[in-house]
Order: sequence, then structure tokens, then C-alpha cells
Amino acid sequence: MKRVVLKLSGESLAGDGGYGIDPASLDVAANQVQEAVEAGAELAVVVGGGNIFRGSGVADQLGIESATADYMAMLGTVINALALQAALERREIQTRVQSAIQIQEVAEAYIRRRAMRHLEKGRVVIFAAGTGNPFFTTDTGAALRALEIGADALLMAKNRVDGIYDKDPRTNPDAKRLERIAYLDLLSKNLAVMDHTAATLCREENLPIVVFDILKPGNLSGILRGERVGSLVWS
Ligand code: UDP
Repeated sequence: MKRVVLKLSGESLAGDGGYGIDPASLDVAANQVQEAVEAGAELAVVVGGGNIFRGSGVADQLGIESATADYMAMLGTVINALALQAALERREIQTRVQSAIQIQEVAEAYIRRRAMRHLEKGRVVIFAAGTGNPFFTTDTGAALRALEIGADALLMAKNRVDGIYDKDPRTNPDAKRLERIAYLDLLSKNLAVMDHTAATLCREENLPIVVFDILKPGNLSGILRGERVGSLVWS
């Protein structure tokens, strides 16, 4: 795999507190990205925002329209993107943030061909603000960007879960890990791996998805070397 999109959830930046940005978790993510870049990959990262704001969670609570709450949440992903960019630049990795919502003082606008050019030059591109549309998720943003830039795979980073299980391994000790699963089974069994829109998009375009544990050092570069890490979703 040469060019990949890594989906990093907000949760993976939050640490045990579940909210905000935890320096140690940010370091783990940045280290994995660094390893992947040093292995020669063209890497784009789509960052989530659940550690800051989730539209659906607060719309009712605050009496805010869903669309407005979703826009607020998308701005949260921009905050995460800037934090990750800073962590990568501390490691001397050239990085560009492209946002699906124009916010020109802090990030480039998303321009597909420009993003691809950055990747060819060895820069990491961080895509912020998901799809730029309310009622979507950053999972769908990740699937969309992966298809747009011609990525070889979409890599879904998880925390302390090393792939896809037939039931939630955190609450079911007898849960079985699935090495490989077809898109249709993922969708019909409702396994909580990614949202349906994202999985459907990948299925329609036959884009492989790898679900893996980002907290285990070497996992990301292992996937890029073609090692069997995590679970594969394919046809
Ligand atoms: N969001 C949105 N449109 C998008 C991407 C995200 O409206 O294209 C909003 C939505 O409210 C979502 C929040 O941003 O709940 C954070 O994104 P997500 O839940 O995907 O983050 P993650 O779970 O990966 O941290």
C-alpha cells in the first residue's frame, strides 16, 4: 500500500479523560504517523471530533438545531487537526491541513488536486471538518477523501481494540475476532466499526478497509508493509 487514508477518531486523542486533547495520546498518534511516513507511505489523515463536540449529543441538550450543532462539531475537528499538525511538525514532518469548511487563516481549503500534490511531495495532509456538511460523520469524510485521492485503503484506527469482533469485546469476554469480513456482513450485522454511509461508500467502490489498534506501536507501518494487522473489510 502506497497511499492511504488514516481515520483518527477524536476519542483516540482524548486519553482516559474522554474529553479534550491528551498530550500522551497525541504523541502516540504522531509517532505512528511518523513511522508510516518514514516507511515511505503517502499518508492523509482524517481527524474526528468526538473528544470536543458531537452534534447529535448536544443539539437537544442545548436546544440547538441539529445542523448548527453539527457545524459546531466540525469546527472541533479543525482544533484536533491543528493539534496533530503541531505534533507532526515538532517531529519535522511536513504537514498541511485542508479544511472542508473555509477557515483560511488557519488551514488551506480542501482542493483535491492540491492535496494529491502535497502527498506526492511527501507531505502529510490532514483533512479537517469532515465532509463539510451536517448530518454526516468524519467516517464518511474519510471514505470520501480516500476515494477522491485514489487511496489504496482506508485505515480505521481504534483504541485498544485490535480489529473487528462479532460482539463488543469490551463487554463480552467470548467475543471472536474476525480476520476478514465482507462489506455486506459488516453492514447486515451492524457491527460498530464505522457508520453505514461510510461502509456503503467503500463497498460501492471496493475500497479495502483495515480496522486496527493505533495504540500498539508498529501497527500502522506493519499494515503498509502488507503485514496482517487487525481486520480487513473487503468484498
Ligand atoms: N460532523 C458533521 N459532518 C461531517 C463530519 C462531522 O456534521 O462531515 C459533525 C457531527 O456532529 C459529528 C461530529 O462532527 O458528530 C464529530 O465527528 P465524528 O462523530 O465523526 O467524530 P469521531 O467520532 O470520529 O471523533
